[in-house]
Amino acid sequence: MLQPTGLAVLDALGLSQGIAALGSPVDRLVGTDFRSGRTVLDVSYRPLGADVHGLAVHRAALFSVLHDAVVAEGIETSVGFAVTDMSRARSGYYLHSGNRRQGAFDLIVDATGSLSRLRQFARHKPTARALSFGALWATLPWIDEGFDRRALVQRYRKASVMIGVLPAGKQVADG
Ligand SMILES: Cc1cc2nc3c(=O)[nH]c(=O)nc-3n(C[C@H](O)[C@H](O)[C@H](O)COP(=O)(O)OP(=O)(O)OC[C@H]3O[C@@H](n4cnc5c(N)ncnc54)[C@H](O)[C@@H]3O)c2cc1C
Repeated sequence: MLQPTGLAVLDALGLSQGIAALGSPVDRLVGTDFRSGRTVLDVSYRPLGADVHGLAVHRAALFSVLHDAVVAEGIETSVGFAVTDMSRARSGYYLHSGNRRQGAFDLIVDATGSLSRLRQFARHKPTARALSFGALWATLPWIDEGFDRRALVQRYRKASVMIGVLPAGKQVADG
């Protein structure tokens, strides 16, 4: 789910229309205890403004919107270069793959996540650790009954087990 901050970033990049066409707006997050039905979470975006909402999207849809923009801008992409090392010289930063090198770059953004091989180079090293819990999810054709189209709905068994339904939009515009 993209939050208003992430949506503002996409808007600044001129990509809000593309992502809105694929995503599903979410006005409310609501969760109840599965046994008693007691409301545990009921949060609405409404107090932040009439037009403020989250946007549920498939990760692949978000990727496509960003990738299409990269292609449209003619930004050069380079594949098949497994980064193993990084260095800094007067001319800038370099990426290394064995004895091959690419650069110089003014800035390197490492987007390979919390287990990045390059995190040793980060000034503030992220502390990744194995989690003691997991998540399973499945994307299903929408059954437009029994669920709220504009809400993330969850059921909890204490704080340790939860299940939920998120309207996630579509992966392609005509999907
Ligand atoms: C179940 C679950 C639900 C979540 N729900 C939300 C939510 O609703 N909203 C929200 O804002 N956040 C959510 N999060 C958190 C969010 O997913 C993460 O904060 C976010 O994905 C981190 O983004 P990232 O780009 O830093 O890393 P990642 O999303 O982990 O992306 C890193 C990518 O790099 C790739 N990669 C790694 N190493 C290499 C390599 N050596 N070579 C090439 N590729 C590599 C990985 O395959 C991956 O695709 C959720 C997380 C989980 C686990």
